[in-house]
Amino acid sequence: MISIDLSSKTALVMGVANARSLGWAIAQQLLAAGCRVGFSYQGERLKPELEKLLAGHDNTWIMQADATSEDDLSALFARVGEEFGGLDYLVHSIGFAPKAAMDGRFIETTPADWNTAMSVSAYTLVSIARHAEPLLRAGGSIVSLTYHASQQVVPKYNVMGVAKAALEAATRYLASEMGAAGVRVNCISAGPMRTIAARSIPGFGDMYDKAAKAAPLGRNATSEEVGKLALFLLSDMGSGITGEVVYVDAGAHIMTMKLD
Ligand code: NAP
Repeated sequence: MISIDLSSKTALVMGVANARSLGWAIAQQLLAAGCRVGFSYQGERLKPELEKLLAGHDNTWIMQADATSEDDLSALFARVGEEFGGLDYLVHSIGFAPKAAMDGRFIETTPADWNTAMSVSAYTLVSIARHAEPLLRAGGSIVSLTYHASQQVVPKYNVMGVAKAALEAATRYLASEMGAAGVRVNCISAGPMRTIAARSIPGFGDMYDKAAKAAPLGRNATSEEVGKLALFLLSDMGSGITGEVVYVDAGAHIMTMKLD
C-alpha cells in the first residue's frame, strides 16, 4: 500500500477565501497527510472564514498578507521562519482581474487593469518565490493555479488569459533557476470550478455547463481532484516533474468539438 506521510513537512498556502477555494481543496489534502500548514489571507474580512475552516486543526497558523505588498511578504516569510524554521511546500492560489476588464472587449483593456491583473495573478508568483527561496529545503516544491485561457481564447477571460500565460512562463523560468537547489515549480491547470473568483467572470455558469459536456469524461473536474493532483506534485510522488503545466479538467482541453 502506498500512503503519503507529510508529518515531517511544512507548507504555506496562500489564497483561501472560503470552503470552495481551490487553495482549501489543496490544504485539505496536505492536512490529511499530516503536514503542518500556515495560511495567508489578503484582507481581515477573510480571517473569520479561515478560522472557521481551521477549527480543530492544531498544526496550522494564519496571517494576513497582501501578496502585492513587499512589506507583507517580508513579514509573512519571517513568520514562516519562526514557525517552521524552513519550508517544504508553497501553494500560490491567488488571482484577480478587475471585472471591467472581463466585461468588455480585450482590445479596450486599460493600462491600469492590465497592470493589476498581471501584478496580482502572475508577478506575485515571482515575488513569493523570491521571499520563500532562503527557507525552501531541497525536495521543496511550489504549485500555482492556472487556466487554459492562457493557451486558447476563452470568451471574457481577456487580460486574465494573458496573465495566466505569464504565470505559466514564469513557472518555467523559476523552475530553471530553482532546480539546482532541488526545488520544483509547477502549475496546475484546473477546469472551471464554482469559486468566488469564478463568479466575477461574466457568463461563467454557461461556460461551466458547456465545458462539462465537451469533456471526454462528460463532467467537470472537482476541486478534490485539484487537491489530489497538488498533493502529488508537491510531495515526493512528483519528484521528477518541474516547470510543467499539468491539467486536471476531465480532459476538456484536448477537444476542439464534440458531436452529440
Ligand atoms: P478564490 O476562492 O476566490 O481564491 C482566490 C484567492 O486569491 C482569494 O483568497 C483572494 O483573496 C486571493 N487574492 C486576490 N488578490 C490577492 C492579493 N493581492 N493578495 C493575496 N491574496 C489575493 O478562487 P479560486 O477559484 O479558488 O482561485 C484560486 C486560483 O485558481 C486563482 O489563481 C484562479 O485564477 C485559479 N483557477 C480557478 C479556476 C476556477 O474555475 N475557479 C480555474 C482555474 C484556475 P480575496 O478574496 O481577499 O480577494
